[in-house]
Amino acid sequence: MIPKKVSSALQETERSMAAYDPDNIFAKILRGEIPCHKIYEDDDALAFLDIMPRSEGHTLVITKSPATNLFDIAADDLCRLMKVVQKLAPELRDAVGADGVLIQQFNGEVAGQTVFHIHVHIVPIKEGVALKPHAGQTADHTALAATAEKIRKKLSA
Ligand code: 5GP
Repeated sequence: MIPKKVSSALQETERSMAAYDPDNIFAKILRGEIPCHKIYEDDDALAFLDIMPRSEGHTLVITKSPATNLFDIAADDLCRLMKVVQKLAPELRDAVGADGVLIQQFNGEVAGQTVFHIHVHIVPIKEGVALKPHAGQTADHTALAATAEKIRKKLSA
């Protein structure tokens, strides 16, 4: 017989897994159904620019495996995702001439999550430059394309 504690943890996991919507916008980006300004891809993750950037180079790193957020992602998948975040962060910082990076990750609507496929924000920060609001204004696509190109060049250098 499954202990009560384990059984309720399993039920909770099933509930969060059931909540994953395969038609969310990032799942569509992963399937190539909608475009993105891609900067990096490997077997585990895809990284592309946020279309409403808080600063130049604001990047989203998403898993290739489906998960809604921290509550339903497998620990190994989370480790692989964070390895990519760690690899990209200094490259992004240097590519846009920033001084540091802010890492943000929202879990649940109440916490500010708006897209329900797990993702980590890498937001380059420049000394004395204020960040724009979270999910504020859509940036100009020509500017985004130029930034993405700059970052890809740095990554391939
Ligand atoms: P969350 O609040 O879920 O952590 O952040 C979702 C992020 O996705 C926001 O920063 C928002 O600007 C970004 N975003 C929303 N729709 C799109 C899209 O279609 N393409 C890209 N590249 N970013 C998006």
